Amino acid sequence: MVGETRCGFLNAYRGSPSPLRSMSCARLNVAKLMNRGPGLRIGKILGIPIYLHSTWVFIFAAITYMIASQYKQEHPVWTDTQHWAVGVVTSLLFFASVLFHELSHSIVAQHYKIRVVSITLFLFGGLARIEREPSKAIQEFNIAIAGPLASGFLAVGFFGLTLLFPYGQTVGALATRLWQANFALAVFNLLPGFPLDGGRIFRAVVWGATKNFEKATRVAGASGKMIAYAMILFGAWRVVHGEVQMLWTVSIGWFILNAAQESVAQVAIRETLAGLSAADVMSKDVPTAPGHITLEEYSAEVLRTGRRVHLVVSDDRLVGMMNVHALNSVPRDEWAHNAVQAAMIPREKILWTSPEEPLLRLLERLLSADVNQMPVVSGTTDGAPHIVGIVTRDSILRVMQTRSELGPMATSR
Ligand SMILES: [Zn+2]
Repeated sequence: MVGETRCGFLNAYRGSPSPLRSMSCARLNVAKLMNRGPGLRIGKILGIPIYLHSTWVFIFAAITYMIASQYKQEHPVWTDTQHWAVGVVTSLLFFASVLFHELSHSIVAQHYKIRVVSITLFLFGGLARIEREPSKAIQEFNIAIAGPLASGFLAVGFFGLTLLFPYGQTVGALATRLWQANFALAVFNLLPGFPLDGGRIFRAVVWGATKNFEKATRVAGASGKMIAYAMILFGAWRVVHGEVQMLWTVSIGWFILNAAQESVAQVAIRETLAGLSAADVMSKDVPTAPGHITLEEYSAEVLRTGRRVHLVVSDDRLVGMMNVHALNSVPRDEWAHNAVQAAMIPREKILWTSPEEPLLRLLERLLSADVNQMPVVSGTTDGAPHIVGIVTRDSILRVMQTRSELGPMATSR
C-alpha cells in the first residue's frame, strides 16, 4: 500500500546510565503523523530526500541537555564548554546513527526496486517512507533486518573506539554513550511485535511459512499490541511511583499501539475487497447529459432524478463529467447563459478506471485524489473511451459493509 513507512523511535530516560536506552522502529501512515508537512529538507542521500520534522527540534534539545548534564556529573574536570560541545556532538552523532539505521532499510528496499519516498527525523526517531509493501516474504525479512544489523554494526564500531580511548577523554565518553545507544536501538527494534522491525521479521517468517500475508500481519499485529500494552502499563506503573519521565515509555507504547491497529485495519480492508474489481461494484446505468444544455436545464435534471453526477456525452463519446459540485462553482444567475460543457470537468482531467482494476487499488486512488466517483471505461487505446459504468465511493463502502456483515465465509474466495 502507498504511504507505508519505516521508523525508529527513541526512548530516553533521565538519570539512567544510558540516556538513550531504547529505540524502536515502525511503519505507519506518514500522512497522519506528518500532517503538518514533512518538515525542513536538509539534503539528499542516495537519491532519498532527508527531512527534519518540527518535532525533532524538541527531542534534539532534550537529548543534548540530558547528555550534557550527565557529562557534567561524570566528568567534573571538563570545562562547561566541553560538556556542552561534546553533548551536542554526541547528540548529532546519535541522530546520524538513527539516519544510518533508516538508510540501511532504504538501501535494501531500493535493491528490490521499491522506491524510498523520504526519510524524516521526528519526535520518536526516524521514519523512512517506502512506496509499497514488499511483494515477497524474503524481501520483507531482508528490509526489516537491515536496520537492527546496521545499529549493531555501529554499536560494535563505537565499542571498538572505547577500547582505544579512555573514558575520561571526550572521544571515549562519546563512544561509550553511542555504543550503548546503538546497541539499545538494535535490541529494542528486534522485539517481535508489529510495527517494530522484529515484528516485520516475525511477519515475514509467518508469511513465508503460511503463504498468507493477511494472517501473518494479524499475528504480528496482535503481538505488537501486546508489546504496546505492556509498555503502557509498565510506564504508567512507574509514573504512579513518581518517575514522571516514564511518560515517555507510555507515549511510545501508545504510538506502537496505533501503528499496530492501523496495519491490522488495513489488512481487514484488503481481505474484504480481495478478489473484487471495478466491474463487480460499478453501476451499469450511467446517467449522461448532453454538453450543449444550459446549467439551468442541468440543475432541473438533477432535481428531477436526484442524481448528483452525470457523464457529459457528445455522439456517444465521453467529453467530460458534470456534478453538483461543478454546478455550484458557477454563480446561480449565470446558469441560464452557460452550457454544461463550460462548467464540466474536461475528459483529460477525469480519473479513469477499467473494469479489471482491483477494488482495493481503486479505493486508494479515489481517496488519495479526493474524488467521489470514477467512470469505468474500456477501449481507451484508440483515444475513444467507451463508457461501461461508473464506480462511486459509496458503492465500494456498501460492498465493504455487506461483506463484513456476512462474515469471513462470504469473503473467502
Ligand atoms: Zn528499523
